[in-house]
Amino acid sequence: MERIGIYGGTFNPPHIGHLQAAKQAVKALGLSKLLIIPAYAPPHKAVLPEHSPTAQQRLEMLRVAAAGCPEIEVSDLELRREGVSYSWETVEAVKRQYPDAELVLLMGTDMFLTFEGWLHPEEILKNASLGVFYRGDKGEQPAIAKKKTEMEAKGVTVYLVRNDVIPISSTQMRRLLVFRCAGEFLPEGVLDYIRENRLYDTRTNWKNLPMEELEPIVIGLLNPNRVKHVLGCRDTAVALAERWGADATDAARAGILHDITKAIDGPLQLTLCDAYGKLLDDFSKRYPRTLHALTGSMVAQRIFGENEAVVSAIEFHTTGRADMTLLEKIIYVADYMEPNRDFPGVERLRTLAFTDIDAALKLGLEMTLEHLHEQGAEASPASAGALAWLNKKG
Ligand code: FE
Ligand code: FE
Repeated sequence: MERIGIYGGTFNPPHIGHLQAAKQAVKALGLSKLLIIPAYAPPHKAVLPEHSPTAQQRLEMLRVAAAGCPEIEVSDLELRREGVSYSWETVEAVKRQYPDAELVLLMGTDMFLTFEGWLHPEEILKNASLGVFYRGDKGEQPAIAKKKTEMEAKGVTVYLVRNDVIPISSTQMRRLLVFRCAGEFLPEGVLDYIRENRLYDTRTNWKNLPMEELEPIVIGLLNPNRVKHVLGCRDTAVALAERWGADATDAARAGILHDITKAIDGPLQLTLCDAYGKLLDDFSKRYPRTLHALTGSMVAQRIFGENEAVVSAIEFHTTGRADMTLLEKIIYVADYMEPNRDFPGVERLRTLAFTDIDAALKLGLEMTLEHLHEQGAEASPASAGALAWLNKKG
């Protein structure tokens, strides 16, 4: 019997992880055809992020992405139906089209484990088997195996498709697009399509925006749980700039941008450095999570057109360094003691910040080094340099 796969999703945007999963399914399940069906409007995230491409554009990107794969067909079935895209309706429609084929509905592990929560799962199972992408390296195998046994006991056919997922989500993709370093994660032709159609703000000029325009853009790029901290850091930095006679505008901009790449996880930090042609020292390679200060400074410079003072304040906001500028000190300290921070000693730091900025900086550095030491982690050589400099000074 002919076997046809169904692979749905938002594909906003389609990336190489999707394409790789599709190809693996074709091979592992011996599919004669794989239908990739972009959702018109997905049920589980009713609203797509702002500035998302249209459904038609997501479909066209998929067609570009799959152009070299004869077994893959990109279907506009859910687009033609409009409204919220439910899998049971899609499966039923495909079944009408291919009544004699075995249909395999493909999904990720999370969706499989919560399959009963979908709308009309029994309707889906009337018409299709299930194909589950799983990773080899995750602790999720026992849960998948258990679920598979349960489903099989009910007469459902479940196929497992090993997929060594390329570790990137569409949310991360959209950030990388904005930071101009998504190229290596996009199937051939998709980046050109994105640029030509000015999708994901790739053609927008974000240099030197006034604060009221900068703020919503920054908020859109952060993890939601970091927004308060970043706004608190900005406001604290402005207060400290006024206290110590630094440029308040620079302080505000460095404050709001200081964690701009914090939502990019470790390995992708390295991608960003690569894309910007930045060679890394050994410490940074060992601790890629600390790279957000460096990559944030590069994004501030290249994407947001910030001046040197702002750029360096962001670059050294986690480590400090010898010979720090006033703005570097202010951002370091503001980041440490803005109103959302809460740890033993924070009040002392807050007082010192407005009475003796060097003492506040020193206290912050010492606390960081102690904390790293307790955790058995290495400190950046720049922090040791900063402390030695402060001790010599004062
Ligand atoms: Fe930070
Ligand atoms: Fe921060």
